Amino acid sequence: MPQKPLKKKSSRTQRNETLDFNNPDFEFLPKGRHIYRQNGPYLICKSCELTHAIWIGMDKIMVGEDKEGQPILERR
Ligand SMILES: [Zn+2]
Repeated sequence: MPQKPLKKKSSRTQRNETLDFNNPDFEFLPKGRHIYRQNGPYLICKSCELTHAIWIGMDKIMVGEDKEGQPILERR
């Protein structure tokens, strides 16, 4: 049986686990149409193979999407 590799406490791993969605630099938007579902303060894309999300904040709610597929947001 192969030995389980020990978990290394590297700062790089830590950084990967705590992505900052508040940081606009992190925004990742593949081309094409996205089907978003709201999950708390995030819109999470359910149509892409690679999951991505947009931070919208706690004071907004997704009420639908326009004809381009862009989410329509409203203040709570
Ligand atoms: Zn997407």
